[in-house]
Amino acid sequence: MTDKQIAHVEEQLIKFIDQVIEKRNATTAEVEALPAVAHALADITAESNCAAQGSPADAGLATSVQSDAAPACSDLPAFDYSGLTDRTVATLHSAENMIRTAHRDYVIKVADAVGMAHDELSSSENRTTSHSNQYTEDTFMGCDGWEISAHANSAPDHEPIQGKQYSDADYIALNNSLVRRIGTLNCGHAAFPIMLGVSSPQYTPEELQKFRDDNAAGIDYQGKHYTGYEATQLQRRIEESMRRQKRRILVDETTGDKEKLQTDQIRYVRLKDEYARFSKAAGLRTQVERAEVSGFGPKQGRAAAAENKAVEKLANSMYSGDTESNVSEYIHDRNAYISKYPTSDSRYFNAYKELKNIGIKKGVLLPAVQKQAFILPSGKRDPNHILKRMLERNITDDEVRSYMENARVMFAQWGGARQAFYGTDGVSVIAKDDGNWLYKTVWKKEDFDEETDLILEVLSKYGL
Ligand SMILES: [Zn+2]
Repeated sequence: MTDKQIAHVEEQLIKFIDQVIEKRNATTAEVEALPAVAHALADITAESNCAAQGSPADAGLATSVQSDAAPACSDLPAFDYSGLTDRTVATLHSAENMIRTAHRDYVIKVADAVGMAHDELSSSENRTTSHSNQYTEDTFMGCDGWEISAHANSAPDHEPIQGKQYSDADYIALNNSLVRRIGTLNCGHAAFPIMLGVSSPQYTPEELQKFRDDNAAGIDYQGKHYTGYEATQLQRRIEESMRRQKRRILVDETTGDKEKLQTDQIRYVRLKDEYARFSKAAGLRTQVERAEVSGFGPKQGRAAAAENKAVEKLANSMYSGDTESNVSEYIHDRNAYISKYPTSDSRYFNAYKELKNIGIKKGVLLPAVQKQAFILPSGKRDPNHILKRMLERNITDDEVRSYMENARVMFAQWGGARQAFYGTDGVSVIAKDDGNWLYKTVWKKEDFDEETDLILEVLSKYGL
C-alpha cells in the first residue's frame, strides 16, 4: 500500500471520528466498515515491516543500500549521499531507519485505534440501548454543553477554565478565544459532552482550588522554585534530552568512534539519574516510555551503565574530587588529549595519566611512529655516548633499530624533537640533529631499571 492509500484510509477515519464527536451520529454501516479498515491497516503494517529492516550497519555503502535494503517497498525515495563524510552518512542512515520504524509504529497505532473504536461502538451494551442506527445519537442525546477535564499541574493558560461547564455556544466561543485550544499540543485537557444543569461536575470548586494551590506551591529543587506545571515541563525537557542522547548513541555505534560513544553513554546515564532524582523530588511519576527511541533497547542501556561504572572507577583512581567531577574531568582531559593527538586513543591517555600520577614524566605518550635514524657520533657534550652505550651493553646496530621497530609506544619529548621508543626487548632514544634523526642512547631488557619495568607494566594494564 502506498503513502497515498494510507492517507486515504486516515482521511476516512478522521472523517468518521469527526462525525461521532462533532455531529454525534454514526451509521451502523460505518461502524460495520471498521473491521475492514483495521484489516487494511494490518496489511500496511505487514508491508511496512519490510521497510524497517534496512540496517544501520549498512552505513557507508550509501548508494548500494537502497536497492538491497527494502526491495518490496517501492515508494522509498532514493538518496544520494555521495561526497558526505562517513559520520554524516551514518547519521542520515540512522534517521532514515527511524523514519521507517516510526512509520510502521504509527500505522500499528492507527490500526489499534480503529480496532478499539470498533469494539467500543459495537459492544453489546451499545447495541441493547441503541435503536437501529442511531445509538450514537442516543449516547449523547440531550447533551447541550461541555465540561473541560481537570488535572494537577495544569498549564497556567488552561488552569482558570479546567473543570468548568459551558453551554455549546460558550464553549465554542471560549475555545476560539484561546491561543492554545483545548486538547491541542499535548495539553492534557479534553472536553466531554454534558447536560447543563443535570450532569454534576467531576470536581468541586474546592478540589479545583486545591489543584491551583498545589500547583503554585510546587517544589524547591537545587535552590530554584518550580510550580507544579514548571516541574512537569522540566521533566518533559529531560525526557527530550534523553531521547536526543539515545539517538546520538545509536549513531556512535554505527560510526565506531569509541571515545564519542563513551562520552555520550556517560551523558545519557547522568541524564537518566537526573530524571529519577528530579521526578522524585517533584513527586512526579517517571514515564520512561516518553524517553523511548526506537532501536535503543535494554542492550544499549546496559552497555551505557557498564561503561559509566568503568569510567567512574578509572576517573576516581586518577582524580581526587567527588565521583561526578572526577568523571567530568577525565572525559574533558581525555577528549582534549585525543583531539590534540588524533592518532592516539583512550589507552594512551590512560597510561600517560597513570604514569604521571606515580611521578613518571617521560613526555607525551603516543603511538610509535617509525623514523629513519642514524647511529652516528653527535652533540658537543658527549658525542660518542650512543657508541659507548652499545659497547658497554653489548647491543648491535640491528638491535638498536629493532627496539624502534618493535616499540609498543613512544614518548615525545622536547616538543617532539626527542622521542623515546619503549618495547619489551629494549628502549631506543632518538633526537633531531640538523634535520636528521640520530640515535642518542639505548638499553636492552637485561639492563631495565625499576622505572622502565613499571612503565611497561602500566602499558600492559591499558592494553598497549
Ligand atoms: Zn490544557
